[in-house]
Amino acid sequence: MAQIENGGSSTSVHAIVHRPRRHQRSRKKGSRLPDGVVCVTRPGKWGNPFETAGEFRSLLEAIIGVSGQSEFHAVNLQQFAQVNAIARNRHELRGKDVACWCGLDHECHADVLIELANR
Ligand SMILES: [Zn+2]
Repeated sequence: MAQIENGGSSTSVHAIVHRPRRHQRSRKKGSRLPDGVVCVTRPGKWGNPFETAGEFRSLLEAIIGVSGQSEFHAVNLQQFAQVNAIARNRHELRGKDVACWCGLDHECHADVLIELANR
């Protein structure tokens, strides 16, 4: 990756250009997301089939092969199929901002999507 010399410390160019982030969707009348933001709420191809971001992360990381975890409880076929499709298509989200209903101070599967789509 290209580096900019900056008085001794260096900064990644990519981080300056655009760091993908999460937006919070709003039900308020007239509110809309900025152009180019991908909505990852349920239902939809990027939706979390689990109740928690942690369950989503552990299955997605296992499918991608970035975790050593090999055991899960209560993963049904539909949940597996959803997360498996996300694993296959995750690079479509590379460099993009995403949006979910979750508050920005809450853990959200969208953060996992951002992380794994851009690694
Ligand atoms: Zn969320």
